[in-house]
Amino acid sequence: MSRSLRRASIRWRLVAIVFLVLAVSLPLAGAGMLLYERSAFERDLERRMTVLADVIGDNSVAALMFNDLQALADTLAGLRNDPRIVAGGLYGTDGRLLAQYQRSDADIAAPAEPPALRPNRATFARRMASMLRPIEHKGKTAGIVYLVADTSDWTELLTRFLAMLGALFGAALVVGVLVSIGLQRLVTGPIAELAALMRRIGRTGEAQLRAVKRSDDEIGVLVDGFNDMLDEIARGRAELEAARAELQERVAALDAEVAERRRAQAELHRSRDQLQSFIDNAHVGLNWLAPDGTIVWANRYELELYGYRPEEYIGRAAAAFHEDPRAVADMLARLEHSDVLDGYESRVRCKDGSLRDVIINCSVHRENGRLVHVRCFTRDITARKRAEERLRRSEERYRTLVAATTSVVFGTNAVGRVTERLPSWEEYTGQAWPSYTGARWARMVHRDDRRRLWAAWVRATREGSLFEAEVRIWHARSGRHRYCLARAVPQRRADGAVYEWLGTMLDIDDRKRAEEQFRTAIESAPNAMIMIDEMGRVVLVNRRLETLFGYRREELLGRPIETLLPERVRQVHPALRGEFLLACQDGAGAEVREMSGRHRSGREIPLEVGCSALQTEEGVFCLASMIDITERLRAEEERRRYTEELQRSNRELGQFAYVASHDLQEPLRAMSGCVQLLAQRYRDKLDARANELIDHTVSGALRMQALINDLLAYSRVSTRARPFEPCRLEAPLQQALANLEALLKETGATVTYDPLPTATVDATQLTQLFQNLIGNAIKFHADRPPRVHVSVRRRGTAYLFAVEDNGIGIEPQYIDRIFGVFQRLHTRGKYPGNGIGLAICRKIVERHHGRIWAESVLGKGSTFYFTLPAGTVHNEEHSELYGSGQH
Ligand code: ADP
Repeated sequence: MSRSLRRASIRWRLVAIVFLVLAVSLPLAGAGMLLYERSAFERDLERRMTVLADVIGDNSVAALMFNDLQALADTLAGLRNDPRIVAGGLYGTDGRLLAQYQRSDADIAAPAEPPALRPNRATFARRMASMLRPIEHKGKTAGIVYLVADTSDWTELLTRFLAMLGALFGAALVVGVLVSIGLQRLVTGPIAELAALMRRIGRTGEAQLRAVKRSDDEIGVLVDGFNDMLDEIARGRAELEAARAELQERVAALDAEVAERRRAQAELHRSRDQLQSFIDNAHVGLNWLAPDGTIVWANRYELELYGYRPEEYIGRAAAAFHEDPRAVADMLARLEHSDVLDGYESRVRCKDGSLRDVIINCSVHRENGRLVHVRCFTRDITARKRAEERLRRSEERYRTLVAATTSVVFGTNAVGRVTERLPSWEEYTGQAWPSYTGARWARMVHRDDRRRLWAAWVRATREGSLFEAEVRIWHARSGRHRYCLARAVPQRRADGAVYEWLGTMLDIDDRKRAEEQFRTAIESAPNAMIMIDEMGRVVLVNRRLETLFGYRREELLGRPIETLLPERVRQVHPALRGEFLLACQDGAGAEVREMSGRHRSGREIPLEVGCSALQTEEGVFCLASMIDITERLRAEEERRRYTEELQRSNRELGQFAYVASHDLQEPLRAMSGCVQLLAQRYRDKLDARANELIDHTVSGALRMQALINDLLAYSRVSTRARPFEPCRLEAPLQQALANLEALLKETGATVTYDPLPTATVDATQLTQLFQNLIGNAIKFHADRPPRVHVSVRRRGTAYLFAVEDNGIGIEPQYIDRIFGVFQRLHTRGKYPGNGIGLAICRKIVERHHGRIWAESVLGKGSTFYFTLPAGTVHNEEHSELYGSGQH
């Protein structure tokens, strides 16, 4: 409130003050009056009620004495004369209600007992006033009067008073406002005028305006002061304006100067950038050298040319970059006497190690006669130098080639005429210059080849392509024509026109003749022969091949080799052929394989084909020789059939031998048993001849039994065979020696053996093998004590065993016979035995895929050899594998 009042204008503040004064003073005056009126009203009513109570008390004393209630009621009824009293009551001294009065329109009655009020004083409640007054008689209380008065007329009075006060307030407010407006004109008018003037001056800047003085009071003084202040401000402003104008002038001059400088600076920058960009982008290397040869600056082109970063190049000695470190010193020395150096060639090392040929132009920059730096312009001439070098080398090579080649080098003009001397031609043909000049050289070409040469020449000149022809040229030294391969290429001018032909002539006579010999050899070969190129095309066939396949050679030449193959292999054959050629290029030799060919009629021909690759100048060729193996296959088939037949019959025979020997034993045992019984029982009853016959029969039966047993042992080699298993061979050997224990003791024989390896064998059969061989070696001993040694050594993929003795030996003519069944060289009387032991040995060795044979010197001893495959021998350590022993 106070804040909004502070913001209000003076005028409105005045109005507010008047309003506030009225608003506070009027209610205060009204409230004071109201309090006074109320207290007057209450005093008046209390007095009236006291008088009434006293009157009633006085009138009731006698009735109270006599307790005349009617009289009391009548006395009270007198209250009706006072319209304000609405109820009344009389009580005895004991507080009993003796009589009561109630105005007819009132709803208040006297209570049954006197109420608890302050005696003799009125008590005011809303619209009501009550009083209790004791009745005194002769100093004693005779009873109590109770009165109730209606005070509602006070409320009406109050309402009227308030209405009057409100009207008064409104009127005072209107008057106050009007008065304040009047006052405002008088007091705030000049101030508001002054404020408006200030606002106007502030807004429009009309400094000449002045306030009008209307009185000499404080406002008049204020107006004077204000006008003085305005005068002061006008003066200050004028001075300020003058100063500002001056300042503006100065600023404008300064701005113009700054703009001019900026323009000049921009111009400078632009031309410097242009220069920098020109230098940077110039396709010429630039650098400045300090007098001591240090690079002080270099442009981008130069850095990029050598591949250095600025920090790797600038600040370093230039000599470090030149291939010849003296080059820079040399350049600087030359510049001592002259200010420019043109076309100095050097070679600079790039960052990647490569060298660049450069040409350097230098100019010296001096200040006050003192050398400040040398400006060097570098041009890269590497490409030019290389091209020059290439050209030089190529010329040199050409010259060397021409000098070194065994070929004839020639050149003709565009129409094939020789216009310059050809030294190599002269040397080859033995011709002098006049005899081959122009077109005369053609006379040296073999008569039969001239037409072909001419045709090739015409084709080459028409197409402007390579000229190539195989012709025979006269060769002076051998005194005959020799085959030559002539080749020439056209040399063209820029417009494409041919101005000369350059060519060589290669002597291919030897090759040609070798080819012819080769063809003759192929033609006369006993087999069908064919040669194909890398693409599988037939290039050569002989007469036998024509016969074998039923084609004429013209039908085959140039055709794919697959023409001669059955359709089912045609698809896969090119791949096989490719593999073969690749293998040959990798150094593989010839290859022989069986395959099928296809006769012209469609019939398949079984072939054995031997292929070999021929590396020639014209590429790789495959030469195949073919044999029709129809007959061989048929023979092989027959042999296979026979072998099978033989094996079957062998099996049957073995079976038969086994069954026969086994089944024969039974009747034989019975027979010999019977004969022996006969001998025992009838020996004394028969004559000597009969006894002799019986003895013969018994010994015959026993021998036959022994023979059958041997036969059975022989057949069991295959029928009772056990599977092969790895076995250290000393085990079966030692078992054999154990079995021969008695014989060894009896003869006092010594058996020694080498350490024996491990092999995959049937150990039982190996025991038998050793036992038979060592047994024989001891059995067939001479007069000296028998000595046997078993040795072994590795021979290729097999072990070779030898059982050597110092016995009687064997006559050479019988040495192969002894391995047959029942073959022996001595009578049974001299050496016991049935002649089956070695046959069993052979069967055992052969079952082990080995071989057995014997060598002997009669009277000195024999050696029995046998082999066993070593393939399955375990690769154990030698010390573990071999042991040694003696028996
Ligand atoms: P057997 O020993 O029963 O006669 P073999 O088949 O073992 O039958 O031998 C056949 C024959 O070979 C022998 O009878 C003997 O004449 C000869 N023979 C075998 N081994 C030796 C040997 N170590 N020295 C001399 N002769 C031998």
